[in-house]
Amino acid sequence: MAISSTEAVPSTPDPKPISENDILHVFWHEGMLKHDTGRGVFDTGMDPGFLDVLENHPENSNRVKNMVSILKRGPIAPFVSWHQGRPALISELLSFHTQGIFTGGISELQRIFICRRATHPKDTHRTTTPGLPTAIQYINELVEADKDEGKIICSGTFLNPGSWDAALLAAGTTLSAMKHILDGHANITYALVRPPGHHAQPTQADGYCFLNNAGLAVQLALSSGLKNVAVIDIDVHYGNGTAEGFYRSDRVLTVSLHMNHGSWGPSHPQNGTVDELGEDKGFGYNLNIPLPNGSGDRGYAHAMNELVVPAVKKFEPAMMVLVVGQDSSAVS
Ligand SMILES: [Zn+2]
Repeated sequence: MAISSTEAVPSTPDPKPISENDILHVFWHEGMLKHDTGRGVFDTGMDPGFLDVLENHPENSNRVKNMVSILKRGPIAPFVSWHQGRPALISELLSFHTQGIFTGGISELQRIFICRRATHPKDTHRTTTPGLPTAIQYINELVEADKDEGKIICSGTFLNPGSWDAALLAAGTTLSAMKHILDGHANITYALVRPPGHHAQPTQADGYCFLNNAGLAVQLALSSGLKNVAVIDIDVHYGNGTAEGFYRSDRVLTVSLHMNHGSWGPSHPQNGTVDELGEDKGFGYNLNIPLPNGSGDRGYAHAMNELVVPAVKKFEPAMMVLVVGQDSSAVS
């Protein structure tokens, strides 16, 4: 049924011309869709043999396809400027994936490490433990896994054929988005990337993440001469990888709002509790804000206004990096 009115309808004003300040520069590359995380029960990749329909892994390409379509055809489409992403160079990865001691030569780098970081509740996981891979070994682990038919790097984290290329694209595309700002072409950019990165620690994959895309972008900003950077992570899980990478730095304020899930195993020894504040020069530069399950918009607004905004203002960052995982829904 159509309803029409004979009453005069106030005419809508002509739309304002779009200025550069209104434009969102989105960095994206279709190759990231080729990361196939598989099917099974939730994120296990396992087929128990009695299900008619196996679930897509929760980190699958459909969600990002929909983000692309929303940005292309949704209400803010006129305000989006698209930029082609690019793969990162291996040498670029070592700016963040650099922790550890370089003890071995290239010939020793063939070992595959799978979730080898032992956890103990009282263990100080940030000291370099024997057996922890060096940065080169860690990257080599991923390169070698890519040559095989597919590997579980750690729980739920599958590196299948196509995954490594996608991971390099995610890292490089994020670097391009940061460079666009550093070169003065924009005030804000959006790197739409997968696989995600915020759980990836300098030498440890975790939580579907291999390379820390945001951490790499932060390092690019610092090495380009910016004095400091604030990272605010609103993904529902703790941004442990980014926090870990800058845990001893006073040039990066890492802030994470997350559900109070604690450590979830050998690949994720951090707890995300309020007492994880940073170490050495970085003490006081990691702000963890665990939120109770069921926290809604008001809870987030309260945490932002009372904790995040004052901390960021005090820090006076030259750049802000927002890690905007979109899983903080009612069912996560
Ligand atoms: Zn998450």
